[in-house]
Amino acid sequence: GSSILRKPDWLRVRSPGGAAFNETHGLIRKLGLATVCEEAACPNIGECWTKKQATVMILGEVCTRACAFCNVKTGHPDKVNPLEPGHVADVAAEMNLEHIVITSVDRDDLEDGGASQFVKVIEAVRARTPKTTIEILTPDFRGKPDHALDMIVKARPDVFNHNLETVPRLYPTIRPGARYFTSLRLLEKVRERDPSIFTKSGLMLGLGEDRLEVHQVMDDMRQADVDFLTLGQYLQPTPRHVRVEEFVTPDSFKAYAATARAKGFSMVASSPLTRSSYYAGADFARLKEA
Ligand code: SF4
Ligand code: SF4
Repeated sequence: GSSILRKPDWLRVRSPGGAAFNETHGLIRKLGLATVCEEAACPNIGECWTKKQATVMILGEVCTRACAFCNVKTGHPDKVNPLEPGHVADVAAEMNLEHIVITSVDRDDLEDGGASQFVKVIEAVRARTPKTTIEILTPDFRGKPDHALDMIVKARPDVFNHNLETVPRLYPTIRPGARYFTSLRLLEKVRERDPSIFTKSGLMLGLGEDRLEVHQVMDDMRQADVDFLTLGQYLQPTPRHVRVEEFVTPDSFKAYAATARAKGFSMVASSPLTRSSYYAGADFARLKEA
């Protein structure tokens, strides 16, 4: 049918504002950085920015792909900015971040898919604020040479995150530019090259997947030795994007979390508003203490 599902109460969030929020906003503007919080129209922006958590987006604001769920602009990408690593390090220092999440648009146009810029950003943050733990959320580097991934692994981020996003059956409609097993294999390769790097992945639910398919993806991830799992509700950013097929209930998210823990993930975040970077720092700090 063509009817649009109504958003249930559990997805309603307070509109962003307040002094701490404005401070984060001002700093990000001053440094001229893009964030996935804004570009993806993330519902948690009020909460995260108030707590000084943000996900920085490098390599420009224009993506070379056009996934059916994603609000990031697509088209001709921006030039790689040599000042960007320094600016990201400025954010980590000025916000006094314990944990930083760095992501990028997909750069199929670059020979290394943007890997060398990730390395420069990791090195800049580490030089400026050595105590800040670093999580990178990368594209799939599909069709890129192996040295792209190798250089990232050598830079030793604390967490390597790459989202599978959805179950394999839905890839042709949801992630047409990607391949399920390329993404899965990327996560596996990181662990093979350096087992001391934590790997993390996530899915958006509510795109028409069923429970057994989600369980199968969990098994595939564990087979690839993925440590951390995030599950959240897909929300349609604009009417031009793919529709929500289902609002998965908070109880179903809890049941998925229990299943995931039983399958051996060491960190699981599963709730309607969970995003890849939601509470990433707090969860990682708790894990390191344990
Ligand atoms: Fe930004 Fe992630 Fe928080 Fe969303 S959940 S506002 S993307 S840090
Ligand atoms: Fe969005 Fe990433 Fe897909 Fe680009 S590759 S459209 S940034 S989800």
